[in-house]
Amino acid sequence: MSTPILEVTDLHVAYGKVEALHGANLTVHPGQIVTVIGPNGAGKSTMMNAIAGALPANGAMRGSVRLDGHDMAGVAIESRVARGMCLVPETRELFATMSVEDNLQLGSYRRYRARERGHMDQLDEVYRLFPRLKERRKQDAGTLSGGERQMLAVGRALMAKPKLLMLDEPSLGLAPLIVKEIFHIIVGLKATGVGILLVEQNARAALQAADHAYVLETGDIAMEGPAAQLANDPKVIDTYLGLT
Ligand code: ATP
Repeated sequence: MSTPILEVTDLHVAYGKVEALHGANLTVHPGQIVTVIGPNGAGKSTMMNAIAGALPANGAMRGSVRLDGHDMAGVAIESRVARGMCLVPETRELFATMSVEDNLQLGSYRRYRARERGHMDQLDEVYRLFPRLKERRKQDAGTLSGGERQMLAVGRALMAKPKLLMLDEPSLGLAPLIVKEIFHIIVGLKATGVGILLVEQNARAALQAADHAYVLETGDIAMEGPAAQLANDPKVIDTYLGLT
């Protein structure tokens, strides 16, 4: 198999004296969707933030995070982004009074600053993936629907041409039909070779989209396996799929 785009080994995170993650291991390969599902407070966002180098000031981690074979210890968040890691946070963090296209352009700002050639070529690619954003390119981001905002947040992340795309709860607050549409697009991204780490409370949608899955419960990886296998596991069905 290919070199993993992300390899997390024995990751512990503590907030002050309280440990929220107790030694997680996780791997993402290029062109693969890996999902972490689990209930509220299990530590999903904590794991994602630790991988991105974005823990709050009271958070401390040990263990290793390797991006494309390189150890990220001591590497600042901006340098992780420059090396191909991109996090789309739950809050989406768009600029409401700026147009869709300006928001997208900000996604390639680092590449522009670094004078990378073709930093705007990615715009055509994002518009190909999200025709709805192209239709609305002059519209202020603040006037978009919830689903379109999520598309814009993902599209902006793709402008940076990431190797690893981390999505924190992309289904949050969206109607079921829109969730279906967003997940269809996420699955389509695999063809670009990007590795995707998807954190979700919507276990049904996540397991349908993902290749591999981890179940996180109170800071521990309780189960792991091919997503299709977990989707058929009686315990997963009982605990996570029964009511969705
Ligand atoms: P949710 O889906 O509700 O966001 P989650 O699985 O992402 O849940 P986390 O947000 O990672 O879970 O929280 C894991 C645990 O760590 C929780 O007990 C939470 O209260 C605690 N926690 C998270 N952030 C902090 C912080 N900055 N300081 C102290 N404790 C925190």
